[in-house]
Amino acid sequence: MKINISKLDTGISEWEEIIEPAKLELSLDQFTSPIQIGFHVEKGVGKIRLNLSAFTTGLLICDRCGEDFQQQIFGRNTVFFVQREESLPDEMPGDETRSFLPGENNLDITVEILDAILLSIPMQNICTGGCKGLCIDCGVNLNQESCTCIHDSKEDD
Ligand SMILES: [Zn+2]
Ligand SMILES: [Zn+2]
Repeated sequence: MKINISKLDTGISEWEEIIEPAKLELSLDQFTSPIQIGFHVEKGVGKIRLNLSAFTTGLLICDRCGEDFQQQIFGRNTVFFVQREESLPDEMPGDETRSFLPGENNLDITVEILDAILLSIPMQNICTGGCKGLCIDCGVNLNQESCTCIHDSKEDD
């Protein structure tokens, strides 16, 4: 995904776009809903500050019970583009500061959008606050059924 900076006025521009997950090379197993992207761009002389937000729904796997669940995902990212005669040697998409060349009007921000989405997914995913998880002895999903295992018993024949 690219933004065309030559069409933007100097100063602040804001707009929204909706794009399909396939266009961002997101896993289609995990992302099926369109992604709403909010752009807030500040254009100066030889520099562009881009604040973007991304909102979508993803399919996550619960760390407790192992079931899939839908989770709303909202992430943000900021990147600062600076015009230079040539890119810095160690520069990578996803860096906080990136270069663009004189005459380069289309800035590729695919990685910035991916980072906004993927980095906002929590490390720990729980389907619901009350998820009971799996029984450590028999493995049943305790949200769906109960079992007769006794976890704190003594051997008392
Ligand atoms: Zn769960
Ligand atoms: Zn059990």
